[in-house]
Amino acid sequence: MRKLEGKVAIVTGGSRGIGRDIALALGKEGAGVVVNYARNQDEADKVVAEIMAYDSPAVAIRANVANHEEIAEMVTATLEKFGRIDILVNNAGINRDKSFKNMTVDAWNEVIATNLGGVFNCTHLVLPTMLNQKSGFIVNIGSANGQVASFGQTNYSASKAGIIGLTRSLALELGRSGVTVNIVSPGFTSTDMLSGMPDDVLDKIRAKIPMNRLGAAEEVAKGVLFLVTEGSYITGQQININGGYTM
Ligand code: NAP
Repeated sequence: MRKLEGKVAIVTGGSRGIGRDIALALGKEGAGVVVNYARNQDEADKVVAEIMAYDSPAVAIRANVANHEEIAEMVTATLEKFGRIDILVNNAGINRDKSFKNMTVDAWNEVIATNLGGVFNCTHLVLPTMLNQKSGFIVNIGSANGQVASFGQTNYSASKAGIIGLTRSLALELGRSGVTVNIVSPGFTSTDMLSGMPDDVLDKIRAKIPMNRLGAAEEVAKGVLFLVTEGSYITGQQININGGYTM
């Protein structure tokens, strides 16, 4: 019997990068998966097809995590299709890097609204279902750069540090509810998010990572899979998957 047979998961930003590997890992263990995305339906459809090849149900749903109404529609559609929600992975995230003196109001607002507002919107709308079920796993994707200084990322760092505060306080509120909430924090991981970085910058980053390499999305997905399959007594915690970058 697969570990997540009969369970239902929403993975925000499940169409590419880390979210894609999380969606595949959950689907491989038998979960029904909602592959959320914002713009690129083709990529989301490919992930759905891969999950269905594991003999697990899956559907792609477009919704901007920064938009409470769109997420409400996604949650309604999820419940209509699957009837329950056991796992929420708040993975969708963006970066709009600029030094603080050049940071535009739009770049600040977009990153905070997506990375931190998105966690609020999805959790706010999924939680009533989990509370009714008296069980659920919420996993927020943080970042090493929410824990250590990162030049040009005041907006991104603030959003990811905010996720730490939200997660701990919510875990306290949910202590007796049967719903856990934790963070999986990747370090530098090979995805499209890093594709704009010049090679010499990537070399400098690698040199600062004790394990001397970037992470793979699959390695981050393993942390999420662990929490939702073996993490029954883990809440309010952060698992760092970063090659030792934040030691
Ligand atoms: P990515 O490759 O750029 O993929 C981002 C995913 O999020 C895509 O599926 C994208 O869908 C979706 N998305 C973006 N904005 C969205 C929105 N407003 N609503 C719904 N979905 C949205 O990013 P990634 O590197 O996998 O990052 C995933 C998470 O890991 C993020 O929270 C990021 O901050 C975190 N993280 C990444 C790294 C890294 O080095 N890669 C390090 C630490 C933390 P569309 O294609 O449809 O837009």
